[in-house]
Amino acid sequence: MVFANCNQRSCGFIRAIRHPEGQNIRVPMLPCCRIYRMVCLHENRKKLLAVIHHCITFPPLSCYEAVLILLSRNQAMQNKKSNFSEWYTEITKEAKLCDLRYNVKGFVIFMPWSVMSMKKMYSIYEAEMERTGHKPAWFPALIPESNFHKEAKHVEGFTPEVFWVERAGENKLEERLAMRPTSETAMYQMYSLWIQGKSDLPLKIYHPSQVWRYETKATRPFIRSREFYWIESHDAFATEAEARAQVQEDMEMAQNVIFGEFGVPFLFFERPQWDKFPGAVSTYAADCLMPDGRVLQLPSTHLLGQNFAKPFDVKFLNEKGESEYCWQTCYGPCISRIYAAIISQHGDDSGLVLPYSLAPIQAIVVPIPRKGNEEAVNQAARETVSLLSKSGIRAEGDFSQNTPGFKYNEWEMKGVPFRIEVGGREAESGIYTVVRRDIRAKASVKKEELASWLLHEGARMLSDMKKKAQNGFDSCISKADSMETLATELEAGHIVSAPFCTMEKEGEACADAVKEKCAANVRGTRYGKSERAHGKCIACGKEASAIVYIARQY
Ligand SMILES: [Zn+2]
Repeated sequence: MVFANCNQRSCGFIRAIRHPEGQNIRVPMLPCCRIYRMVCLHENRKKLLAVIHHCITFPPLSCYEAVLILLSRNQAMQNKKSNFSEWYTEITKEAKLCDLRYNVKGFVIFMPWSVMSMKKMYSIYEAEMERTGHKPAWFPALIPESNFHKEAKHVEGFTPEVFWVERAGENKLEERLAMRPTSETAMYQMYSLWIQGKSDLPLKIYHPSQVWRYETKATRPFIRSREFYWIESHDAFATEAEARAQVQEDMEMAQNVIFGEFGVPFLFFERPQWDKFPGAVSTYAADCLMPDGRVLQLPSTHLLGQNFAKPFDVKFLNEKGESEYCWQTCYGPCISRIYAAIISQHGDDSGLVLPYSLAPIQAIVVPIPRKGNEEAVNQAARETVSLLSKSGIRAEGDFSQNTPGFKYNEWEMKGVPFRIEVGGREAESGIYTVVRRDIRAKASVKKEELASWLLHEGARMLSDMKKKAQNGFDSCISKADSMETLATELEAGHIVSAPFCTMEKEGEACADAVKEKCAANVRGTRYGKSERAHGKCIACGKEASAIVYIARQY
């Protein structure tokens, strides 16, 4: 069954409903209850009912308008909980976050609405880097092949993923150049020139950039593509203890920014020996949980020891005048992927929900004129936008010809944190109706208090979003002591802790068994929480030496 609306969309009434057999059922000015009944027959009735229910709960949107909004979209949003994959695909399309039609496989166009948020994420993360003593630098995108070969494990790990540049114009290059998949081998030869004495240490450099990896898994915008946007920091120290402290500081930065500012909860795991960064002594990585119960790796920080310092000759002269190798760490928060976590964590069935500080528009002013008061209402709306802009709030007005209901829907889809409704009553009284996107709570706010109210409520919104996210995350951590319970818990979308024989290389066979039986991965042991192993390894039955966490992964 297809709804046909009248030619003037803004009139807000459905004129006919077309039956699949072809005949039109004319429904001039149907009362809500009749529309409701017809909707019940519709194949997408669940979605339509949800929208209509929403309209009735949150006037002044009428049922007619709601159905028109549905008509104006090709497809309504899928349910996030029951079908996360489709929900994710739709939200990236409907909110115009990216365009997948570029003609190089695995490469994605990030569009203005997502990039405006990611630029803010960059500046927040970079500020945190600088607060912890890092200085910015920009390194070349091309790395000579010979640099790669200096660290054997690194080259082995990354070679299958490298895009190579072999020609320049008509000339074949003497040496192949790699499009950087990560910058260790570009930076450390320079570190060897820059670091002489102890006074050059610690050296803490961060590098905001994009990197290229020939990933063979399917592309998911923001989650996995062959080009992605990140920050990498590379630090060098005189002692191992300082390097270990840096790894800890990297994890604290993640906590401050990704949970503190973006509201995405996660856990840091020390990865097993068979799953560490190529060339590292140990790897610590943050996993957050997507709505479909699979974990997504956020930043990882790596203790490199002297594994790179030796081949790249990164040395300093100590107080005795002796030459010593530096101790190094590297860290890589991937901005585009953290963005994927933010939209997945906070979004709902109406679209994005963006934290106040990341939203490209923080408050959208929607004028609701009636015949006769158009000028006064539009004027009041314009004044409100200018008032808020002067206070440093990113505010805009929607003066398009669409109906108010259509506009509400549009800006909800985009995740704008606050909607300010300006009708005749508001224009006259100077008391505005403000609706908060995440909980849809309505408030009446005096015009002169609007700016300070938004600032305060914006902070409260983030704090509420964090609480909700953390509670959801905590409820998804569970335990298992056998392969059977592990399978059940994973099926429920949980991160599951279980006794395991060993985190050393020998444990890999057991991890493979887990992967085969439960389609899940051993993520490692919890960092910063000493959990005493007890019982038998869930895979081989040997005495357990560690409590590991297991999850399905992206
Ligand atoms: Zn085992």
